[in-house]
This record gives sequence, C-alpha cells and structure tokens, in this order.
Amino acid sequence: MSPFSAVELAPRDPILGLNEQFNADSNPKKVNLGVGVYYDDAGKLPLLQCVAQAEQQMMQSPKARGYLPIDGIAAYDKAVQALVFGAGSEPVRSGRVATAQTLGGTGALKVGADFLRKINPAAKVLISDPSWENHRALFSQAGFTVETYPYYDATTRGLNFEGMLSALRKAEPGTIVVLHACCHNPTGYDITAPQWDQVVAACQSAQLVPFLDMAYQGFAQGIEEDGAVIGKFAAAGLTFLVATSFSKSFSLYGERVGGLSVLCQDKAEADRVLSQLKIAIRTNYSNPPTHGAAVVAAVLTNPELRALWERELGEMRLRIKQMRLALVEKLKAAGVKRDMGFITEQVGMFSYSGLTKDQMVRLREEFSVYGTDTGRMCVAALNSHNIDYVCESIAQVL
Ligand code: PMP
Repeated sequence: MSPFSAVELAPRDPILGLNEQFNADSNPKKVNLGVGVYYDDAGKLPLLQCVAQAEQQMMQSPKARGYLPIDGIAAYDKAVQALVFGAGSEPVRSGRVATAQTLGGTGALKVGADFLRKINPAAKVLISDPSWENHRALFSQAGFTVETYPYYDATTRGLNFEGMLSALRKAEPGTIVVLHACCHNPTGYDITAPQWDQVVAACQSAQLVPFLDMAYQGFAQGIEEDGAVIGKFAAAGLTFLVATSFSKSFSLYGERVGGLSVLCQDKAEADRVLSQLKIAIRTNYSNPPTHGAAVVAAVLTNPELRALWERELGEMRLRIKQMRLALVEKLKAAGVKRDMGFITEQVGMFSYSGLTKDQMVRLREEFSVYGTDTGRMCVAALNSHNIDYVCESIAQVL
C-alpha cells in the first residue's frame, strides 16, 4: 500500500482555478480580471525598461552564481531599508532595522511568521476581514490561531473603521496584527492618514505587534507617500515588521524578489533578531536566489535607473487611476443607474465592485468576464480595448 493512498485532493486555489477556466474559454472577447497582475494598455505583462537596462549592463560582465549569504545581497537589503524607512531616517542611521532578502512578499511574511512563532508561540494573529486569501493560510501553516478584525462593510460599501479600531483596542498584548500598508487587497480601500494615527495609537496602547504587508509601495500615491505609513509607526517608537514585495512595482513576479524588515529597539537587538531570521531562512530554503535581487539593487542604487523606475512606476499608477475614472464614466454611459463613484476612491490594483456572487457568475458564464466571486476585479487588467465590453457586460448583469 502506498503511504499516500489516504491523501485527500486539496481544493483548487480559487484564483488559479479561475485562470484555468479563463484559458479554456474560447470566447474571443474574454477578459481576465481575476488575477492580481498589472498589464499595460496592450494587455501585456510589461518588462520595465529599468529592468531591461540593468540586465543589459549585468550581461556585459556575466558573473558565476555562487550561494548568496543567508540574508541575501547586502546592497539589496540596504536599498530595501532605504525604500521602506527613508534613506536618511533615524531607524536606518541607528542600525536598528534587521533586513533579509526573501522570496517575494510571501516569503517575507512566512519568514516573519516563523520567527514570531518561535518567540511567542501562544500569540494570536489578526488579519483584516476580508484579506488577501494567503494571509490566513500562511499564518495558520506557521502554527498560529488566525482571527479577523472588521475592515470592509458590505452594507455601506465602505470601511468599518470604528469596528477595526475597537477590535485592535480589545486585542490581547502580544497579538500580531497584519495591516495592509497601502492598496488593500482585495477591497481597494485604504484608511486615511488620521485613521492610521489612531491605528498606531491603538497598537501602542494595546501592546500589539504590527506586521505591515507592503506589496504595492508606489501604487497608491507614490513611493515616499505610501512609505509614510511606516514612518508613523516608527515615529511612535513602535517595534514592528514590514514585508516588502517587488513583484508588482518592478513587474518581476516570477523572480520572487522581496524583503523582510524588522524594526528593533536598538542595533544590538536588531543583530539578535537578524540571527533568528537567518535560522528561519536556513531551515526553509537555505538562501535566496541571485538574479532578481541583483536587478532591483542595481536599479535602486543607480541614479539614472532609479529615476527611470520611478517614472515607469508612476506610469503604471496613473494608468490604473485612468482606468478607474473610465470605468465609472463608461458604466454610467452603459446605463448603470447605481452610483459607482466609489471605484475612484479605491486605490491599487483591485476594486471591490459591490457585485454579488450571482452577478459575478453571470459575468463569467454569459460574458466571459472573469472576476472573483467576492466581486473583486483587477482594474490593472483593464485597458482601452477591453473596457467598453467589460462595462457593457456589467450593465447587463446589474
Ligand atoms: N501581500 C499581498 C497583500 C498581496 O496582494 C500579494 C500578492 N498578490 C503578496 C503579499 C505576495 O506578493 P509576492 O507575489 O511578492 O509573494
């Protein structure tokens, strides 16, 4: 008998399942708004110029691929810190940030989760309701009990900020709170700067452990503007974790480039924390891969490439904003009576459209427009060629 004979078939990943369905659809008008990927106006995954140029420069003197240190490329880790906390910021200057290169944002969350589980196995984890679907799975897999704090209110199609705040205030000391630093996935609703101040105060008074997930820095208002949230936590004297992802901001999804930063009380503490992060990395995958992080480090540390990246990231951000505006206008033009203006209040790649599960199923089955059953649509996959069809289709099911 096989040791695997009793193994059950796991449910399919909901988003990947949607992709398979989309690929099998023969309708030439089909549109995939299910994925969390930025496409350009031609519907193509972009290769950023800054990335192509950095790669060309690297190709001029190709290097052998030895193992990297466990915590990755030193220049990369330094660049991540500068991006997250600000180049000349006090946390960076005082050396109290421990940063390790990770396998994307997911790797940063997992290394952070393994580290936290070791230092406080009894802690609970709070994630937003709803959240990126992998948050729950990932922290549960690391051994934590995962609960939620209120975030989105379907009845008002907005945020339940009071609910969020009171849940944080009531949480036990040591509770790990996963917060979306910007571009909340899946709703697209971010809290305001004054609301962040209240969240910071709540984390401080309830002695919580904030874990900021920053998968979209630069997609809401700008690199520095989006990083300001991190600055608020630092300025309040809190110690916390930040997961960085460059999957979207560099369009480097498959290279798995991310970083985990832990802001500590002082440099000695940061050194101890880094030694523990290294154990989490060593026992999971030993050390990270070379290419993607080398590209990102080259871009972030070369003034010309850096300027080019900021311009290209700005273009992606702007295109998404234009698609949001066009979506609202064209839905109205297609005869939708309901006020859809909330779509332009949302930021980042996603929009909670307010459509019901039945409406989303109809969109898929009758019009080959694919979004998730929760009503989430990836506005970064809309373009000038597919938006009219998407709006007409939505108008039919609403
Ligand atoms: N956190 C959030 C909120 C995300 O949306 C994503 C990507 N979908 C990630 C983390 C993971 O990013 P990566 O692909 O770099 O692992």
